[in-house]
Formats: sequence, structure tokens, C-alpha cells
Amino acid sequence: MQTLFTNCTIFTGPGEPLLHDRYLVTSGSTITALGTTADLPDLQDAKIIDCSGKLLMPGLINGHNHCAMTLFRGLADDLDLSTWLHHHIFPAEKAHVSREMTYWCTRLAAAEMILSGTTCVADAYFFSGESARALRDCGMRAVVGHGVVDFPAPSVPDPKKNIETVARFIDEWQDIDPLITPAVFAHAPYTCSPATLRKAKALADDRNVRFFTHLAESRNEPEMIIGMQDTSPLRHLAGLDLLDSNSVLIHAVWLDDRDLEILAESGAHIVTCPQSNLKLASGIARIPEMIARGITVGVGTDGCASNNGLDMFREMDVLAKLHKLSTLDATALPAVDALRAATSANAELLGLSDLGRLQVGNKADLILIDLQIPRLTPFYNTDLLVYAAGGHDVHSTMINGRMVMENRKILSFDLEETVARVQQIAALVDGVITRPA
Ligand SMILES: [Zn+2]
Repeated sequence: MQTLFTNCTIFTGPGEPLLHDRYLVTSGSTITALGTTADLPDLQDAKIIDCSGKLLMPGLINGHNHCAMTLFRGLADDLDLSTWLHHHIFPAEKAHVSREMTYWCTRLAAAEMILSGTTCVADAYFFSGESARALRDCGMRAVVGHGVVDFPAPSVPDPKKNIETVARFIDEWQDIDPLITPAVFAHAPYTCSPATLRKAKALADDRNVRFFTHLAESRNEPEMIIGMQDTSPLRHLAGLDLLDSNSVLIHAVWLDDRDLEILAESGAHIVTCPQSNLKLASGIARIPEMIARGITVGVGTDGCASNNGLDMFREMDVLAKLHKLSTLDATALPAVDALRAATSANAELLGLSDLGRLQVGNKADLILIDLQIPRLTPFYNTDLLVYAAGGHDVHSTMINGRMVMENRKILSFDLEETVARVQQIAALVDGVITRPA
């Protein structure tokens, strides 16, 4: 199946100029041609999409999400991380996370992401086989990290079996479906002992999959870390030999100067979640300094219980503005760096190098933005994608060469069924739909 996008204004990726009067061809799952309209090929059987008045650009990548947490959006707001996590989220998860909940609530997340131009997500949760199945069924590309903690979790009641459960998940999904890449997600050094962290990283390295962990999210984390000796959270991980180019650290808010040096030398990657950090008052990560040191920095929404949305356009906007304010320097994090974080940098740190840019040979993960709207008129340059556009301006979404959303209608699955199923599940969660208005 070929698709021909004609009359395009194309943004091929961060740092590249806007191109006008272009065409792009996808064949199967891949971008196979890109050129000027004057040289338009004659493709008899291709589906033709006229892109007049629209911008064709790479699909956005969400570098960190707990997809199934759509169920807990709005359940507990305006709380610090520790209170939010230990008194609200962990108990709600203990009571309500199941196979069925994970499947349907992950599908709801997929709907929100597809409608707002996200074509790939790094998910981190439990019952990861269900998450992988839900994302695949929705036509969404994903790196799915199976959670590891040292206490009983809904999908792993016996924590002694946490590593073998993840190993089984990897074996079930590795190289099985082109959309799904399994991974290891060790929740945090305050929920995983040093021994567990080492085993999780060894498993990731052995199976050649990514190792993710939350790190240094809140200022009081050092008091909670299991087995940490008079050092920093990052040096705790470095001391366990966990930092290399296969490691992705989520948040990394509280790093000192020495931590930044060690991080840069290690080759480990960072995913920052600025809106989650703002809402939980966790702190402000030293992102401009990390970028200046050559560290690959991606961006993610985090789970939508701490955000509370999955719109990566909004996340880019906040990322760029937050660091201007925190440094009192309007040049601290330009729009292009936010775009890079949400596209090519996220692709690189997830190990999916054929994503994040529109070029021949890359995967056909792309979106169309409506430029015929007041907010994006006139469209002088791509900075507007960060400072003006929103997920609701996405007209169509293609993932792996398949149109999953066209003219704001999801084509790859039944959205109404998904909403209805999540509403049924939510009816069992105290306070979610029974809370008085
Ligand atoms: Zn998270």
C-alpha cells in the first residue's frame, strides 16, 4: 500500500527549514520518496492525500508515560509527590489495577495521544503484556517497559519473581510486532533495592532492551533510597554500574555539578517531564546545562495523573518556557531544542533511530497540522509548533504507514467502545465519578 502526500509544506525535523511545494511517498511502513511537486511521480494505485493548507511533520514521541493511569486523572491533585504517591496513587493502584483496567485505560491513552499527534510512546507500568496488546491494537508504536518494584505489585504479587516476570514479558514481545519494543522499567531506587536494580539492568543488557528508571525526582529522595551510602541518587546508580548508553533516567531534577559530569561521561540519557515536575512541585531539572554538555535529553508527559494531559505540544511549550524563567534567560532553551526533545532526541534515546525525522528510509510515522486556523495564521516558522500549536490542531496521524486518524476521526479502533469501557471501570473507583460537582 502506497500513500502519496501532495502539495505539502514539510518540516522534516528539528533544525531543518520549512520546505514548500513538496510531495512525500510512503510504501508499506516506510518513507520511500520525498521531492518537489514539479517532479511528482505517477503512482497509479497510491492513496492520494492533498496537504494544501497543512503542515506535514514527524509524529511526536512521548518519552515517558504510564498510559493506564488515565483512570486516575483528577483523582488526587494539588499534593506533593510523596503524599500523592503513597497515600493516593499506590493505594488506588493496589485496589484497581487489573488486566482489564490496564488494557482499556491504555487504549484511552492511545486515543488521546493519536488525536494530539503522538505516534510513539515509552510506556512504563504493570501488566505490560496488556499495555503492549492495547497499544498494538490501537495501531500505536510503543516501547513498553515492564515495572519492577520490591513490594507486591498488582501484576507481580510475589516481588521475588519481579525480574523473571519481566524476562518472560520481553521473551513474549521481542521482535514479535513491528509496533512494540519491550523494555525494563525499574520504578525507582526508593522502591528497588541495589540488588534488584542490578538484576534489572543486567536483564536489559542481556536482552538488548532499554533500561528505564525514575531518578532524583524530589528533593527528599535521598532519605528514601534503599541502601544508599552518603552520596547522591545519581552517584548511587553510578556506583551500581547502572549508567551507560542503554540507560534512560526519568526526571533527574536534583543533580549537583559532579552528577552532571558523571552523567555526561556515562552516555546515559534523560527524559524530562516538566509539567509533572511543576504540578508536584518536584523542582526544575538542569536541562539547558545537560544539553550544553551533549547529554541526550528527551521529553515526556509522565502519567496523566500528574500532568494532567498527554498533549506533547503543550509539553514542548512548557519545557521551553520553564527554563527561560528558571534561568531568567529567554535564550536558555529555544523552541528547536524542545522540538528536538520530542522527536529525534526521544527516538535516539529509545533506540529507534528510524523515527523522529521525515527522510527516505525512516518509518512512516507522521502527522498533518491544520494551518488554516487563526492560531497558526500566518505560519512564519516552526517555533509556532512549540509556542502556539496544540494537539487539537492535528488533522491526521499516520503510524507505520497506516492512517490511524484522519480529519480528527480515529480509524484504527472504536473510540466510543473504549470510552464506554473506561467509564464502566471508573464507576468502581471511589470518588472518580461519584464525586459531587
Ligand atoms: Zn513516571
